[in-house]
Amino acid sequence: MAATWIAGGTVVTEEGRRRADLLVRDGVVAAVGLSLDVPAGAARIDAGGCLVMPGGIDPHTHMQLPTMGTVVADDFASGTAAAAAGGTTTILDFVGPERGQSPVEALDTWRGWASRSTIDYGFHMTVSWWGPGFSAEMARLVQAHGVTSFKFFLAYKGGLMLSDEEIVKGFLRCRELGALPQVHAENGELIAHLQAKLLAEGRTGPVAHALSRPPELEGEATLRAVTMAETVGVPLYVVHVSAAQAARAIGEARSRGVKIVGETLPGFLAIDDSVYASPDFDQAAGHVMSPPYRPKGHLEALWRALESGALSTTGTDHCCFTREQKRAGLERFTLIPNGCGGVEDRLHVLWQLGVNGGRITPEKFVSLTSGNAARAFHLWPRKGSLAVGSDADVLVLDPTREKTLSARTQHQRTDFSVWEGRTVKGVVVHTLSRGRHIWADGDLRAEPGWGRFLPRRPFGPVYERLV
Ligand SMILES: [Zn+2]
Repeated sequence: MAATWIAGGTVVTEEGRRRADLLVRDGVVAAVGLSLDVPAGAARIDAGGCLVMPGGIDPHTHMQLPTMGTVVADDFASGTAAAAAGGTTTILDFVGPERGQSPVEALDTWRGWASRSTIDYGFHMTVSWWGPGFSAEMARLVQAHGVTSFKFFLAYKGGLMLSDEEIVKGFLRCRELGALPQVHAENGELIAHLQAKLLAEGRTGPVAHALSRPPELEGEATLRAVTMAETVGVPLYVVHVSAAQAARAIGEARSRGVKIVGETLPGFLAIDDSVYASPDFDQAAGHVMSPPYRPKGHLEALWRALESGALSTTGTDHCCFTREQKRAGLERFTLIPNGCGGVEDRLHVLWQLGVNGGRITPEKFVSLTSGNAARAFHLWPRKGSLAVGSDADVLVLDPTREKTLSARTQHQRTDFSVWEGRTVKGVVVHTLSRGRHIWADGDLRAEPGWGRFLPRRPFGPVYERLV
């Protein structure tokens, strides 16, 4: 493959920033520095005045997911192209076996869909049911298929929710295999109780969605999951932390030396629960996801948790639906498909709120958007790094350029955006995936099928430092 020379920019990594050019050859970083020996015929990308950083890793997406009687709006081709336009070059998506279905068989299905991905991808496995069959196949997933993280649900009673007994068994199995358990931590029993109560009171609109899943229920479930992991002696990854109580439980466990990684989403740092009070159903329902957006005070608590390191990765839980799809819940909030988009917006929003907002440094931005996820999911240093030999997954960000986020101009395949009308300063102008220039100043050249599957290795008998 021809070489590419990214010239004139400032390279930002977790360790610091410096004026440097980047030479990419055969899909990997070949050299970083000044006065590089650039081969004749190398393509040149002008990064003057721009920042050059590792491409984003979104550790939490749901492309093409069949759920709640429909299928999410983005498939692996459209969703990953949108990701590329926002500087993200790797996604980790969730395989969701049906109840009783072989997880290995489900992985085959997801790998078929993901073969149209435009950027590299790996998989987590949802533990959607529990039994000896599932437990046995976990070994094959870890050892033969490179799927080394497993998500357990403490929520969704009557669906994905597992009992504490099953979760403890699952955590023990992860420990045995060197796999990383993940949890969706909300108290499903109490949510079911509140949903029934609200519906009985005639509260059927989207505002009841948030009322049925209060932050205390996330706090309780997070503490329970942390306690189970600590007792069993296995690390833990907590997805989409939205509540102050949950962030506190994770921070306290980390300070005791428990290996635990907390993920939050940009939306939880910026959007509060007032969105559910909108009289416009499409607006309110467009924000329905689980956990829901929280009362204002939680936003500040999450920022402090990011600054202190209690929370250390950001994902999107990209799971987008159209307005029409959300209308399935017009009569009943429990039927509104759960999920919001955002795979395209994560870096822009985090740069605007975090770096421009004076809360995080550009170096920390790199940790929060790629480095920490790369370590937590064993992709480091192939991903999340611009060291010589790392995959040439690169973004070039122009810190002076502005853009207004909108459903009308996004590449995500939906007519709704939780970021509608927000202006960000700092725009990704170029994205490279393994050296291929897939986003070139407004020109989206992402090609379905370019992305490769990323098998990951287990952590071994002794868990290494995660993040
Ligand atoms: Zn999710």
